[in-house]
Amino acid sequence: MALYKEQVIKIYNSISGEKETFTPLVEGNVGMYVCGPTVYSNVHLGNCRTFISFDLVFRYLKHLGYKVRYVRNITDAGHLENDADSGEDRIAKKARLEQIEPMEVVQRYTVDFHNILNKFNNLPPSIEPTATGHIVEQIEIIKEIIDKGFAYVANGSVYFDVLKFNESHQYGKLSGRNLEDMIPNTRELQAQSDKKNPQDFALWKKAEPQHIMRWPSPWSDGFPGWHLECTAMSTKYLGEQFDIHGGGMDLKFPHHDCEIAQGKAVTGKNPVRYWMHANMLTLNGKKMAKSTGNNILPEEIFSGKNDILEKSFEPSVVRFFILQAHYRSILDFSNDALVASEKGFQRLMDAYHSLDQLPASERSDFDVKAWIQKAYDAMNDDFNSPILIAHLFEAVRQINAVKDSKAELTGADRDLLKKAMSDFMFDILGLTDQEEEHGDVGQKLEGTIELLIKLRAEARANKDFKTSDNIRDQLEAIGIALKDGKEGTTYSIL
Ligand code: AMP
Ligand code: ZN
Repeated sequence: MALYKEQVIKIYNSISGEKETFTPLVEGNVGMYVCGPTVYSNVHLGNCRTFISFDLVFRYLKHLGYKVRYVRNITDAGHLENDADSGEDRIAKKARLEQIEPMEVVQRYTVDFHNILNKFNNLPPSIEPTATGHIVEQIEIIKEIIDKGFAYVANGSVYFDVLKFNESHQYGKLSGRNLEDMIPNTRELQAQSDKKNPQDFALWKKAEPQHIMRWPSPWSDGFPGWHLECTAMSTKYLGEQFDIHGGGMDLKFPHHDCEIAQGKAVTGKNPVRYWMHANMLTLNGKKMAKSTGNNILPEEIFSGKNDILEKSFEPSVVRFFILQAHYRSILDFSNDALVASEKGFQRLMDAYHSLDQLPASERSDFDVKAWIQKAYDAMNDDFNSPILIAHLFEAVRQINAVKDSKAELTGADRDLLKKAMSDFMFDILGLTDQEEEHGDVGQKLEGTIELLIKLRAEARANKDFKTSDNIRDQLEAIGIALKDGKEGTTYSIL
């Protein structure tokens, strides 16, 4: 029997504000859409937090035996600098500044995005469609919205008529706004706008002569509005109505409220059954963001090359740090928080690796089956990874008690615990087993580097800076960076 029949998930649905029992549209199948990155710069750790959160959801649904179609798009056109449909296209702007083709920008940062998510051990989605690959589908949806009377053409552009839509539907429900409240906030509309009302949003924008990313359409040579691509691609691959839609909290408005409006305008139905939003990763108490520069790149953490860090950290430790918070809580990034996560991660891995050496007793002091159900309960409760991790540490305490001859475990229970811990740690949380990954060679390399660090410290103590610098430079030349910190010298493999 499939596990999902025994383990019932509750999901906090952002649109109802309640935890709801998850029942997919088609039994045993889940359609899930997550808004992907706008590929005009390197992803920062905040972006990664959102994608790791949905990787956890994807992994858990798969673990329960659901057949999941996970669609995560790449935004490679249409996302303007300003959410109110003004400013330059982010990708076109980068291309202009660097004097390269927009598709070179897209390729460079899509590759970076994939590399980084691979390092974090994220599973690839089932389909990764691009906005530019779905211009035809977007044009077709615009035609349908116009036919239904919810959009109008103005000077070669097409706008969604928010006031008209709001007469029969509730615009802004997801973000908890109502139209009356929005009106005073949007008064400073640009004089040259073709919109009937400032709340209207673009479905199609006529391209200015200098705008290089353009396609022919019945209304003008132009480009689609940002919100439209997600409606087009989710409908194409998951249907007019599908199970789960995810993204960061900051996408609730306008992006997701506009997606709902577009979908409802065409079909009269809510396109999404469960809306999930991941909370923000902060740095110095403020949202990590590309635009403000208040961010840290994953590569800076893996190499330790950022002034706020005292050392480098492995991707799996960073992933563990992220999963130690629930996806709906704000999480603040700091060197100290990562140091604490690294210690916890090591303690967990050490206990897991010591399981095989535990003596088998006649009886058990630990109810492994009840523990397994508690771990599932945590995940069933809106994917509560911090509670799951707390249960894993409960298992660590039990293992250590058996090691210290303070408790007993039967051989069968030990094997059951090992299998369950492996499922939760590797399959579901997506952590990587460093020992398995680097193996024996890794340990020998570690020993060798530590020896060199020691020799360098001795050289420095003897004021033999030629030798000490030589060791550091030559290690760096082969891709091993040393970093001197408060607690001695650490290294990272670049
Ligand atoms: P973007 O490329 O800006 O469209 O962002 C890609 C994803 O990262 C979206 O789902 C955003 O909501 C999410 N995101 C952006 N900043 C943060 C942050 N500081 N913490 C968590 N998620 C974020
Ligand atoms: Zn989207």
